[in-house]
Amino acid sequence: MSKRIVIVGAGQAGFQVAASLRQGGFDGRIILLGKEPHPPYERPPLSKAYLTGEQAAERLHFRPLAFFAERDITLETGAMITGVDRAAHRLHLADGRVLAYDRLVLATGAGARRLDVPGTDLAGIHHLRTLADARTLAAALRDGPRLVIVGAGYIGLEVAAAARAMGARVTIIEALDRALRRTASAAIADTLVARHIAAGVAFRFGTGVSAILGRNGRVAGVALADGAELAADHVLIAAGAAPETALAEAAGIGNPAGIPVDAWGRTSDPDIFAAGDCTLYAHPLGCGPARIESVQNAVDQAKAVAAALLGRDAPYLAVPWFWSDQYEHKLQIAGLIHPDDKTIARRDPDGGGLAVAHLRAGRLVALEAIDRPRDYVQARKLIAAGVQPDPDRLADPAVALKDLA
Ligand SMILES: Cc1cc2nc3c(=O)[nH]c(=O)nc-3n(C[C@H](O)[C@H](O)[C@H](O)COP(=O)(O)OP(=O)(O)OC[C@H]3O[C@@H](n4cnc5c(N)ncnc54)[C@H](O)[C@@H]3O)c2cc1C
Repeated sequence: MSKRIVIVGAGQAGFQVAASLRQGGFDGRIILLGKEPHPPYERPPLSKAYLTGEQAAERLHFRPLAFFAERDITLETGAMITGVDRAAHRLHLADGRVLAYDRLVLATGAGARRLDVPGTDLAGIHHLRTLADARTLAAALRDGPRLVIVGAGYIGLEVAAAARAMGARVTIIEALDRALRRTASAAIADTLVARHIAAGVAFRFGTGVSAILGRNGRVAGVALADGAELAADHVLIAAGAAPETALAEAAGIGNPAGIPVDAWGRTSDPDIFAAGDCTLYAHPLGCGPARIESVQNAVDQAKAVAAALLGRDAPYLAVPWFWSDQYEHKLQIAGLIHPDDKTIARRDPDGGGLAVAHLRAGRLVALEAIDRPRDYVQARKLIAAGVQPDPDRLADPAVALKDLA
């Protein structure tokens, strides 16, 4: 077994690799390096409870610092890695240090995608990936500003809900024809959008941003591709995430789309593994190599990497899952959806909840559920079991999914 494992990226996946290695009995050196100034913390509340002030920053940390000391995990925050020398098994740090590894794990995550239009350097432009980003955004929302959000993905929608709760006036601009185009069915997206509209959020679909307008170095508005202009005090660019692949690309084991890995998290270099948002993985429930951006993916992939490093065979095959909180609603998704899947809706007769099942060649491969937690829990089991449910019974919201097994 290797004696010195270095993990680059102290986020969800990096933390989990370190914790699982020790839990699994690894007795060598574990070095966990992250460029952010904080110990590992969870990101989901950054667009939800942290933003509204319901969850304090200290409660974002996965574990107190004592956890790392007690397990003899060397945690270095503020440590930026600038290069990987695969031949020499060495890492280069921004402060000039050189660090040796026997095995290396890249868990570098992703960064908020930037918009290539004039004006994105003005004061009042926000992105949301880190605690520092969330702090700045939360402070901006306190005065009930006019907020324009570019992008109707999960982060854009969640921030809109939080911002409305804080009294901001919110408009969401989305270049595509509807919300959550890549990640949810139209029925689910439209249900969420209807709730946002009821809460006072305005939407502009089917038009992009041509420029951010400024006055005295500050944001004053947004010019749209269709010629319209919107006044704004702050603009959040929520246009998706780009994988952090600079190290992997320079080392010849990654590309701009991600770091290709197998079910054990192995890259093309036998001594380098990768986990989390930075990876490209052909999950058996998906349709080819893809990046899965979720807490569950980061955790399960990290556990598979730790197992592989311990010489155990525990590939990552688990059913992916995801959640999003908006207003009083909880969206839960099990499995991986694809636009070509056949969809079947299960709608509560009283209009309360909605689930959308996805079938591929007759097999249940995914289910999205708004406020139907039982459907979600039961669907996870059916998806894992490879069940081919009867479509008519699946469409009946009164039939329990477990009875379709
Ligand atoms: C606002 C927000 C809300 C979210 N909400 C949800 C949700 O509701 N449900 C859900 O399932 N998922 C959610 N996610 C996604 C989830 O947080 C990510 O999928 C998860 O954090 C991925 O973990 P990771 O370890 O791969 O990346 P990260 O957690 O991003 O960690 C990567 C770390 O690596 C560091 N790093 C990168 N390069 C270097 C380098 N060269 N040297 C040193 N350190 C480096 C980064 O600074 C970062 O700290 C949300 C994400 C965001 C941003």
